[in-house]
Amino acid sequence: MKVFIGLLLILGSSFASRLINSDELQELFTKVLKNETADNDLKTIQDVFEIYRPASSSLKMQFESNGRTDVTCLICTSAFAALRDLVFEGQTDEMLSEAIINICISLRIVSDRTCKGIVPLNIPILTYIIKTTPEAAPRTFCGLLLQNADNPNTCPYNDPRFEWTIDLPEENPIQNDQIATSNSEVLRAVLVTDAHIDPLYEPNGVADCDELTCCRKGQTPRSDTYKTDIPDSVFKKRIHEVKDDFIMDLDLADDIRNLSNAIRTARNSPRAGYWGDYRNCDSPLWAYDDVIETIAKHKDIDVVYYIGDNIDHHVWETTYELIDGVNSYVIDKMKKEFGENILVVPCIGNHESQPTNQFAPSTIKGDKLNTTWLYNSLAKKWDFYLTEDAKATLKKYGSFTMLIRPGLRVISLNNNYAYRYNWWLVYDPLESKRLMEWLVRELHKAELVGEKVHILAHIPPGVHNLYYTWTREYNRVINRFSKTIAGEFNGHTHSDEFKVFYNEAGAPAAVAWGAGSATAYSGYNCNYKIATFDPNTYEPRNIVNYVYNLTEANLAPNRRPHWFQLYDMKNSFQLDDLSAASMNNLLYRMVTEDLLSLDLYAAFYSKISDRRWPNCNNYCKIDNLCKTVVTVLWHRERCEELRNLFFKTISN
Ligand SMILES: [Zn+2]
Ligand SMILES: [Zn+2]
Repeated sequence: MKVFIGLLLILGSSFASRLINSDELQELFTKVLKNETADNDLKTIQDVFEIYRPASSSLKMQFESNGRTDVTCLICTSAFAALRDLVFEGQTDEMLSEAIINICISLRIVSDRTCKGIVPLNIPILTYIIKTTPEAAPRTFCGLLLQNADNPNTCPYNDPRFEWTIDLPEENPIQNDQIATSNSEVLRAVLVTDAHIDPLYEPNGVADCDELTCCRKGQTPRSDTYKTDIPDSVFKKRIHEVKDDFIMDLDLADDIRNLSNAIRTARNSPRAGYWGDYRNCDSPLWAYDDVIETIAKHKDIDVVYYIGDNIDHHVWETTYELIDGVNSYVIDKMKKEFGENILVVPCIGNHESQPTNQFAPSTIKGDKLNTTWLYNSLAKKWDFYLTEDAKATLKKYGSFTMLIRPGLRVISLNNNYAYRYNWWLVYDPLESKRLMEWLVRELHKAELVGEKVHILAHIPPGVHNLYYTWTREYNRVINRFSKTIAGEFNGHTHSDEFKVFYNEAGAPAAVAWGAGSATAYSGYNCNYKIATFDPNTYEPRNIVNYVYNLTEANLAPNRRPHWFQLYDMKNSFQLDDLSAASMNNLLYRMVTEDLLSLDLYAAFYSKISDRRWPNCNNYCKIDNLCKTVVTVLWHRERCEELRNLFFKTISN
């Protein structure tokens, strides 16, 4: 039936000029990039983006009949196809940047400043990849960009290079546990992550602006608000599927404008807070200082795990100098406050690179392309803490390993390689496989000598920010070495959460612990944690989280924030221990006889943020819980099981 309607639409399209399919869309993008648009072309492209904006923010914009793809995928692939054609026609980076900036500005997708910054930062990488990589299909770029947590079919890319498996060594039949640790003292580690320092943060500045991130000196208040949650039915009336393609009726743009106009209001938002802001603002320098100085008051710390993201979210105006400066500041401040006797083990976040999120293979040397500059500069900044071997692998993969106590090894894993926003994945997805092979070699060496391992990795396992094969193979690695890995610690989400890995038989095998964030960016309170570890197994005995309430802190800018212990994992959740089995039991308890623990988990998830916690209803609570059991992207069976149990419990 759908196909029939589509055919009718094609037949009718000579009468109704407002219909557009993907080939026409690509042609249109090409004209725009070549600066050959007529007036009505510009109107058409404005309409297309009027549609793209709300569609891209709606996860439900999936068309059910063939379950294949999504309208944002159509627009994205058409735009990338046009870009690819022009690169092959010989347009220079400068010409392409200028054309894209112009269209970006006239469409008001983001602010003018954002357009002018983000395009020239990314174009050299994109054109390099397009020129050198025959497999770099528009669909691969878009499939990664638009990947979401719920559905593998939003924009499937079917690029066989992304399908790989990792070789795992046979398990030694005799467990090598003979490293007799002479330590009878527990190990105390600080978990701290995601400082996101904005050196240009302005207290009382603009916290609600037209840009992606605010609170920086020189920003102006928001001029427009767009309603982005347009109901799916509005789209479905105007978009028709024909086989794998869509035909879009551009009158949809008018429908969306009418709905958006209705809610456009003048806004007068409160100014930015002194200690930070729950809105899209990074942290002032003094808020970072406060976190580190507060941690330094704990006198019994052995080691600090810092899990990445030093740099702000003003991703359109990052510079090498600014990144370098903040990277130095972060580590120097820790050294100063903690002293030279406390080891700091750092890990690279996706914001440390230039431009943000881009991690090139070490074979890439070109100016504006390579990531070697970052690895080399971090090897110098972190020199005090790292061994020569650690510096050598840091320079290659941004990853390293160090024995930090007899019997305990830390692996700092730069899993930003596998981040879906890393364009270099399209250049060579196997670089991330090589990194995982290195991880396996290091874990195997540790296993053979009976060491225990803590893994630090910025991006947590199983999230839609990592590509599918990586999450699946990583899950295999963790399972294979579950006797060696005593703990994993992550950052990146800024929320406070943990994840349980399951083995093939469905039994809980390992736990990855989120560290939260030292910034309030995107509506969280700041936090750090102190984990105590068993001196022999190096498994966590307890994890205690410390926070302050940002609203309260901002009411008294002249006083230091009032830090307090939010919870202690073991006692707050009444756990015997923090093993995978215990954490798994807790998850099932939370949706059956102990809903209070689910409430606690929801409160702790946002670190009792005034912005988020009061808005966390039952759906939010169960969504939070769902994330704990998804360590392979799209493997959501256990999540659905927990969801069903929860709704059964509350309906009784
Ligand atoms: Zn972050
Ligand atoms: Zn991050």
